[in-house]
Amino acid sequence: MRLIAARHWRHTFYRLLLVYTLVVVPAAVAGELWMGVAIASTAVAAWSLVRLAHIVERLRYQRRFTPPEGWGAWSELEALLYQRQRETRMRKRRLLSMLRAYREAAASLPDAVIVMDRAHLRVRWFNEAAQRLVGMNYPRDMGAAFTHVVRTPKVVDWLRAGRTDEPLMDMPAPVDDTMRLSYRLIPYFDDQWLLVVRDVTKLMHLEQVRRDFVANVSHELRTPLTVVHGYLDLLEPEEKPDWAPMLTEMRHQSQRMTQIVEDLLTLSRLEAQERLPEESVSMASMLATLRREADALSQGRHTVSISDETSLDLCGSTKELHSAFSNLVTNAVRYTPNGGRIGISLRDTPDGGLSLEVSDTGNGIPPQHLGRITERFYRVSTSRSRDSGGTGLGLSIVKHVLALHQARLEIESEVGFGSTFRVVFGPERALERSEHDDALA
Ligand code: ADP
Repeated sequence: MRLIAARHWRHTFYRLLLVYTLVVVPAAVAGELWMGVAIASTAVAAWSLVRLAHIVERLRYQRRFTPPEGWGAWSELEALLYQRQRETRMRKRRLLSMLRAYREAAASLPDAVIVMDRAHLRVRWFNEAAQRLVGMNYPRDMGAAFTHVVRTPKVVDWLRAGRTDEPLMDMPAPVDDTMRLSYRLIPYFDDQWLLVVRDVTKLMHLEQVRRDFVANVSHELRTPLTVVHGYLDLLEPEEKPDWAPMLTEMRHQSQRMTQIVEDLLTLSRLEAQERLPEESVSMASMLATLRREADALSQGRHTVSISDETSLDLCGSTKELHSAFSNLVTNAVRYTPNGGRIGISLRDTPDGGLSLEVSDTGNGIPPQHLGRITERFYRVSTSRSRDSGGTGLGLSIVKHVLALHQARLEIESEVGFGSTFRVVFGPERALERSEHDDALA
């Protein structure tokens, strides 16, 4: 490269030398040295201006440079510009083909992808699937607010709240009521959202089939179980002493099955519900009931203490909340050895909500199980759960009831020291207690 540059400059030098020799020497011979110098310099300057004008014109109108054929400083400049122009063009072509490939990939995705600005939810780009799933129209909806295209109130609220943490599941498609959609919001650059909409009709259908199956099987099992249970109750162990151990075991097992069926039916009922009745739940009476239940189950084997540190009540379904709290209290009694302590406390939370905490000094739960114990039939120790009359469905019911109250379950546990199950309700579920409730308490 350096050699070529040197050659260009050498050529320029020789050319200048030639011009000056051809013009200045004859002029000097004729006694007009300075006139010769002036003519030669003017010619060199004019020629340089022509070359400069040529380059400037190409740059101004973005014309292509051709590979220069000659040698010299101007030719080198043109060669360099030609080379840069070619590199830029190639880079641009490469970028364009990459961009086209990305667009092509995004456009042919089976899920709808919509890019919108965060401030006004205005649509900047969408793919073909968005036309099919959400009913968007190109070019009509470019630049329109997405909330004008999809007006489902739940979707609009969810979008305005910017819920990137939680996808919105099982929404009807604006184009077809029988199609179910899931929405997911992803931050995209600093000022944009990427909305991904997926057709989950099949998934929701399978989920419904599963729910119906469980509900139907449980329902079908209920009647034969009641009959078996009834006949077993008629048999008196005293009449057939040889059968006594068998009869006791059969009764125990049939009771267990009945409880499983009842719990499965409760779960099916909760799953089918979108909302629960919203009533004022008197927490003073709730705590009193929980205490009675804990005492009845413990039969004096544990110390049960209650602490009510708030003046708030809950807004929700008394029946379902009682079922959830009662499950937690029952577990605390069942998984705490004799002589242990069980505490039930109700407290305010810093954000104006309230929490109900059930703590025990029982077996505790190893940390690797904590993430899964609210799954159906998940047990830390199957034998211990069965021996204490568990179905493996209690915490699953708790989870569903809490979800219907937008509450969360926090679990802290240490093996050998005990566990704390805390149910936290947001301020929207808190109600000031009336004087009547206080009097009852
Ligand atoms: P189960 O009917 O078996 O008690 P749950 O869904 O209520 O079913 O609980 C799931 C599992 O979580 C239980 O089998 C038990 O191993 C564990 N567990 C629940 N509560 C406690 C507790 N207070 N202390 C220790 N382990 C618990």
